[in-house]
Amino acid sequence: MLSLTRGLTFDDVLLVPAYNGIRSRGLVSTSVKIAGRTFAIPLASSNMDTITGVEMAQFFAAEGGLALLHRFVSVEENVAMFKAAGNPKNVGFSIGIGDDGLARAEALIAAGAEIVCVDVAHGHSKEVNRAIRRLRESYKQNIMIIAGNVATYAGADYLAAAGADVIKVGIGSGSVCTTRIKTGFGVPQLTAVVECSKVDRPVIADGGIKQPADAVKALAAGADMVMLGGMLSGTDETPGEFFERTLVSGEKQKFKRFRGMASREAQEDFMGQMQDWKTAEGVALEVRAKGPAKAIVADLLGGIRSGMTYCGAQEIRDLKRKAQFMEITTSGRVEGTPHATDRYL
Ligand code: 5GP
Repeated sequence: MLSLTRGLTFDDVLLVPAYNGIRSRGLVSTSVKIAGRTFAIPLASSNMDTITGVEMAQFFAAEGGLALLHRFVSVEENVAMFKAAGNPKNVGFSIGIGDDGLARAEALIAAGAEIVCVDVAHGHSKEVNRAIRRLRESYKQNIMIIAGNVATYAGADYLAAAGADVIKVGIGSGSVCTTRIKTGFGVPQLTAVVECSKVDRPVIADGGIKQPADAVKALAAGADMVMLGGMLSGTDETPGEFFERTLVSGEKQKFKRFRGMASREAQEDFMGQMQDWKTAEGVALEVRAKGPAKAIVADLLGGIRSGMTYCGAQEIRDLKRKAQFMEITTSGRVEGTPHATDRYL
């Protein structure tokens, strides 16, 4: 039966300014407490093979965020990556739902890992439930279990009931994701975060963050942490080599590869081929070199701190409590981007 509800994403809304009693943006706190652990910054690096390897994990751990190592290597290599990253408090690992998943979990937890992410494209599923229950039974409360991805209250509630400590939210919002155009499924990310945050578990908003404002809006909508893929792509800390291309202007520019984990390229690399009954739900791109990830993270944190003072929020949790969203029109959105003109001067 057709039931039409409205879904909104970051660009459909603005946060409404409210009274601020904080003297300086330097005085707000960006730290968040998630499942009993404190993170100095509410940012996580995505467990994609072109985003979080050892260097990105080291960087995110040093910043006090959460680094989730990707799982597209052998169990032994994953353990070596974890050991090289050297920070069990801020570095987690990922597993899928195959049998390999539990073996991977066992090896990484034996190596000292405390954070595991059960990560599949459609997390509201029996298999994910089974994986979470098996992890919970084996390791009781000693580990933090992140599970996803979901985009509905029902999905988040299902994962919480299975024993997940943290819910990862986002279906089809990623910068290299084509799930929505291949399948017609998904929930605009702001609505997904709002809905999933109604479940009594911390939420990681994953996918669709393209500028600092989106991170502020995700946190204000109820997320405790924001995961970044595309924004970190092409930075020095990402896995992969830079290569040079000559632009039309004759200028030389460095690039790096960035790809969706469900892209044809990634599937061929990890499974030898993409089965012929499947369609790719991601794309592979060349992105320009962006320099150190530090600059991008600093810009995001600057936006988050400033955003907090626009509604007088001392802590991220105050931002959620005080935030008032306003739905805007396309003209409102255009007005909010640089549009200086000399046409009427
Ligand atoms: P971004 O920050 O680039 O907008 O989103 C990153 C997120 O996109 C990842 O953390 C992951 O959840 C999602 N993602 C990564 N690769 C793919 C893919 O190939 N297909 C889909 N549907 N989502 C992907």
